[in-house]
Amino acid sequence: MSAKYVFVTGGVVSSLGKGIISSSLAKLLQSRNLRVTIQKFDPYLNVDPGTLNPYEHGECFVTEDGAETDLDLGHYERFLNIYTSRANNVTTGKIYRTVIDKERQGAYLGKTVQIIPHITDEIKRRMLLLGKSGQYDVIITEIGGTVGDIESLPFIEAMRQLQWELPNEDCLVIHLTLVPYLSAAKELKSKPTQHSVKLLQQDGVQPDILICRTEHKLSQELRKKLALFCNVRPNAVIESIDADTIYRVPLMMRDEKLDEIVLEKFGLTDVQEPDLEGWKKFLDRLGNPESHITVALVGKYVELQDAYKSILEAFIHAGAANHCKVKVVPIHSEYLTEDNVEEKLAGMDGILIAPGFGERGLEGKIKAVRYAREKGVPFFGICLGMQMAVVEFARNVLGLKDAMSTEVEANTANPVIDLMADQKTTTVKGGTMRLGAYKCQVEEGSLAYRIYGKPLISERHRHRYELNNEYVERLNGAGMRTSGRNPETGLVEIVEIPSHPFFIGVQFHPEYKSTPENPQPIFVAFVRAALEYNKSK
Ligand code: GLN
Repeated sequence: MSAKYVFVTGGVVSSLGKGIISSSLAKLLQSRNLRVTIQKFDPYLNVDPGTLNPYEHGECFVTEDGAETDLDLGHYERFLNIYTSRANNVTTGKIYRTVIDKERQGAYLGKTVQIIPHITDEIKRRMLLLGKSGQYDVIITEIGGTVGDIESLPFIEAMRQLQWELPNEDCLVIHLTLVPYLSAAKELKSKPTQHSVKLLQQDGVQPDILICRTEHKLSQELRKKLALFCNVRPNAVIESIDADTIYRVPLMMRDEKLDEIVLEKFGLTDVQEPDLEGWKKFLDRLGNPESHITVALVGKYVELQDAYKSILEAFIHAGAANHCKVKVVPIHSEYLTEDNVEEKLAGMDGILIAPGFGERGLEGKIKAVRYAREKGVPFFGICLGMQMAVVEFARNVLGLKDAMSTEVEANTANPVIDLMADQKTTTVKGGTMRLGAYKCQVEEGSLAYRIYGKPLISERHRHRYELNNEYVERLNGAGMRTSGRNPETGLVEIVEIPSHPFFIGVQFHPEYKSTPENPQPIFVAFVRAALEYNKSK
């Protein structure tokens, strides 16, 4: 069978959830034993989102192979329970960089280099890349942005060309739109969708399926009207009503027969029925918690939920695994002071210190660590959170009052967190951190060993600074165990305090690998520890 391509575009407004719709369709097809992957094409000029402030596009998701990517790739991995890679996220910046590099090498043999065909050829090459690998039956391509944006045009044009270059039964376009409800008229309105589809048609693309985001059910009459005006079959007008959890969307799309319509267009008639038993069990646990806990998420981007997307999702998975609802309270580290730390953190069953960069909010994070360490509240530090746990311990237990990370205090007398030699000479920002999966050797008898149940683990990284090995002996001597190390470099990856009920800091980002079907072990253990702490109060 040749690879089949689904393109997902969005219209009317942004933030309609193309990533969730793409993931849900992928889940349905995967549950029918098809090999599916999803890729995202982002129209912005950054080469990757690694240099973007989280306030711009939310969290930067890191793949196994060390690519800094759009947070939608996190959804793809969580829904499909498979890894994505560098090839799954393409930006305008990447496309132009390739074309311009080729032009400098003289590869275009004196031709004028243009958007059509050179940029669109490079887009098409990348759109087909995963399909050509032979690893997948279906490749879903999500096109970022909204139809009508100037910057999306080359992507829409590439998709238009592919619609004609690929066999008709190998290519399908979904358009996700908004059907707003006007409360004054008590009516759902179809006009924005009509306009959005007209925009696509002007660019030469006819969608096969319309998925309509709506707050109310679509009547048969409205579906017929949308079908008539937008040139699609009435059964291909699909309702996507707001859901209580994103993880229910695959089942909602199943009820709307989205997978059947896709398979019919692809001529795939002998595919097995979807097996969603495992997924439904997860939803069942998620919807019927037996207990509740509250954990603090201490970070500096807390106003924006998307900045900590994978952490919040990992708590949902770990909560379901513990039959427990985890309420995550965002705490702004910038406003945590000596005077209010007690009041802000009282009542928390666990404290997580988030990853991050730069100086803002660091002292607040250190205060939160101290509170958790001294009061015996379950503690979990991720990346910068782990680094600040080490700084706090060095300052308040070892008595090194000026202990700090050289990220913010280049000349501190006690650089407990510092750059490694190979990082010291790097001046370029993009893609130069320690990125992607690295192995970690876990010490037997440690909390980390009990959590993972094995001596060798692998987790993803995204940082420049490391625990300075010159301080390890002193930290160990005062009661902070360094329980995980990179087997090749000896860099410390995990710290813990054995005398504390649950205190763990990790240099890596465990949240990236958590999925409903594979909840991340540290998150599961942290939620369990928080539950125990809650009961003991
Ligand atoms: N800023 C720190 C570093 O670069 C931590 C990074 C992070 O938390 N992801 O090492």
